[in-house]
Amino acid sequence: MTTTLLPTIAHSAGYTDKLLLPHWAEVARIIPEAEGVTTYWLKFIDPEVQKRYTFEPGQFNMFYLPGFGEAAISMSADQATADGMVVHTIRHVGNVTRAASRLKIGDLVGLRGPFGTAWPLKEMEGMDVVIACGGIGLPPLRGALYHILRNREKYAKVTLLYGARTPKDLMYPSEYETWKSADIHVEVTVDRGDETWTGRVGVVPMWFYNFRFDPHKTTVLTCGPEIMIRFVIYEALARRIPTDRIFVSLERNMKCGQGACGHCQQGDYFICKDGPVFPFKKLERIFNVEEY
Ligand SMILES: Cc1cc2nc3c(=O)[nH]c(=O)nc-3n(C[C@H](O)[C@H](O)[C@H](O)COP(=O)(O)OP(=O)(O)OC[C@H]3O[C@@H](n4cnc5c(N)ncnc54)[C@H](O)[C@@H]3O)c2cc1C
Repeated sequence: MTTTLLPTIAHSAGYTDKLLLPHWAEVARIIPEAEGVTTYWLKFIDPEVQKRYTFEPGQFNMFYLPGFGEAAISMSADQATADGMVVHTIRHVGNVTRAASRLKIGDLVGLRGPFGTAWPLKEMEGMDVVIACGGIGLPPLRGALYHILRNREKYAKVTLLYGARTPKDLMYPSEYETWKSADIHVEVTVDRGDETWTGRVGVVPMWFYNFRFDPHKTTVLTCGPEIMIRFVIYEALARRIPTDRIFVSLERNMKCGQGACGHCQQGDYFICKDGPVFPFKKLERIFNVEEY
């Protein structure tokens, strides 16, 4: 990928606005995660940008590859763990993300952000936490998990319910033992096992019945395929968890990332600016509206 001239061009435009023009970042590490999914550690080339850039788990960047365009990608680690870098885990599905699969160490990518709302990590201190996610829904929640791990004493019972299509699609499997040893109850399930799989088979919402949740002190965080989110919400509501303590990260096709173009507008909300993390209380009215 030939991106060497691009920083000069962007800097000569004298940009300062994080929202409109990308800051260039170098690919510092590449970690293959699963079939068609890769994690990139990105280091801003301008040390001032690196110093200034702060984000919270749940937020996202517009990830730019010259000649291909931009895609919204969540931070998949928290600020402290990322050692000053930005970590993105990307599933290679379309125009931009497939081009990303050809990135090499030292290549440059553009990042605009951080955008959007974050997981309510402060508000849920002292509470039980249920993190229910599927497939590429784990990366946007991994930063929240890292935050909980580093502040474990601030949270009560923490349960992670994570599902993938097959064992080969599971993300970050080498980290599960660390999470478990920090007293996080990790439950992993797959839609289809293989000859090596001895764990759970079935979709994430199916396993809710295994657990007792105290509705007075439980917060639910969920991200993943919309059908899974829908059933996680049903399960949470069936357990009388209030709608302002069920948090959903919504993925919608977005362009500007800052509530200007209207591409991701749904009802009263711009998903990029008012979300992507919403309390379900805000979404109830628009939840059954399909993207168009
Ligand atoms: C707030 C937010 C955070 C996101 N975080 C991440 C993240 O951390 N990692 C990540 O990989 N993606 C993430 N996404 C999804 C990503 O932005 C989309 O997949 C995006 O469309 C990819 O751009 P593209 O140009 O590669 O694909 P496009 O050219 O836009 O899409 C090409 C084709 O792929 C299909 N497609 C698009 N997305 C998916 C998908 N997720 N699964 C299956 N098929 C798909 C489309 O329907 C289309 O047919 C996030 C989206 C949002 C809104």
